[in-house]
Amino acid sequence: MSQNGKRTWAEPFKIKMVELLKVTTPEERRKAMSDAGYNTFLLRSEDVYIDLLTDSGTNAMSDNQWAGMMLGDEAYAGSRNFYNLEANIRKFYGYRHIIPTHQGRGAEHLISKILIKPGDTVPGNMYFTTTRLHQELAGGSFVDVIIDEAHDSEFIHPFKGNVDLAKLAAVIERVGADKIPYISVAATVNMAGGQPISMENLRAVRTLCKTHGIRVILDATRAIENAYYIQLREPGYANVSIADILKEMCSYTDGATMSGKKDLMVNIGGFLALNEDDVYDEARNLVVVYEGLDTYGGLAGRDMEAMARGIEEAVQESHIRARIGQVDYVGEKLIALGIPIVQPIGGHAVFLDAAKFLPHLKQDQFPAQTLAAELYLESGIRSMERGIVSAGRNKLTGDHYYPKLELVRLTFPRRVYTQAHCDVLVEAVQETFERRAEIKGLKMVYEPKYLRFFQARFEPLG
Ligand SMILES: *Cc1c(COP(=O)(O)O)cnc(C)c1O
Repeated sequence: MSQNGKRTWAEPFKIKMVELLKVTTPEERRKAMSDAGYNTFLLRSEDVYIDLLTDSGTNAMSDNQWAGMMLGDEAYAGSRNFYNLEANIRKFYGYRHIIPTHQGRGAEHLISKILIKPGDTVPGNMYFTTTRLHQELAGGSFVDVIIDEAHDSEFIHPFKGNVDLAKLAAVIERVGADKIPYISVAATVNMAGGQPISMENLRAVRTLCKTHGIRVILDATRAIENAYYIQLREPGYANVSIADILKEMCSYTDGATMSGKKDLMVNIGGFLALNEDDVYDEARNLVVVYEGLDTYGGLAGRDMEAMARGIEEAVQESHIRARIGQVDYVGEKLIALGIPIVQPIGGHAVFLDAAKFLPHLKQDQFPAQTLAAELYLESGIRSMERGIVSAGRNKLTGDHYYPKLELVRLTFPRRVYTQAHCDVLVEAVQETFERRAEIKGLKMVYEPKYLRFFQARFEPLG
């Protein structure tokens, strides 16, 4: 009802095949959580009832995508499916050259290696874990240039993913344009709570960078969801199609890294898209070393076909409206219950504000990690931490990064769960909220060197 003044966000599909879920007892969940070191990434999926860990690769493919899987051309070189994928990326995203990769980080690895020299700076609208790590491994330093409002979980702003142009100009002034190979712009900023960037801001970033000869590289992972917010909120776009908005967004950038596991509803796959011939030539050469030949990039032909078909489905207005409508439905219910969440509600997830949910825990007692564990113990629902554990350590000082946001992400796979599942989720969060005062924190007892949130282990305090 709320969305666009249209009637409902009801799913534009019906269910043809189902996967049975296991309901566990509190006893079983206590054991599973303890075995998993209080890290939801270490749970076995069969011990999970509703899995909101991520929307990455967990989406339900359509019958059309599955049919495409049967048409996989598994030739080593020049697979028909590669050309289908290339054609659809050109058609819907508008880039000239494309290189498939096994997933998004494969593309991030290539672009970082090609464009970043040691000592370079890469500004971006808030970091993303794998993106920043590849920039750092290539010898670069990431600098956050997102608007300040993005760090305030309850500040209402239609485009909280926007780049702060003054911050960007200051970075260019400070380090010099020749030390900035590109600005990394994310569409619907994951770490800020799935917040979009406006077309106006993207255009302004483009203009500023152009005068300094700096490239703009888009993290297009959820650009289609971003396009939806532009249509919904930005003056002048209400009657422009999602497909046209997407293409306009891409037109202000020189290339994109893409995790097809999100917007494009495949279980695996990604790509690097580029406009510059010489950068493409180098990427085409490097992909052979790290992913596979440039006409498969670590993917089976069938996976490329599923992704090619996913692009067409992902830009359908009815799809995107239902997808974001479902997330909104949960978010609105939690707000009505007085539960602290990031606002505005993001595109792919509802983010619980763990700092406000568990105000008695200090940040180094891992409030978000704790809350994710407690929600699982309460209900068998799996979520994930986006706070101090995800932020990692400063490579120079060795201390934790202390991000302003301490969040638990309830991420919605596309086309997977029903409205009744959403209601169960809301009840479980409410029950956890009611006993929040009794919840104690965690201590970290094992810490991996890279991307520690995936494999770190914890023990309860007290
Ligand atoms: C998931 C994601 C990536 C990395 O993609 P993978 O397919 O997981 O390697 C990059 N950027 C954003 C915003 C993402 O959400």
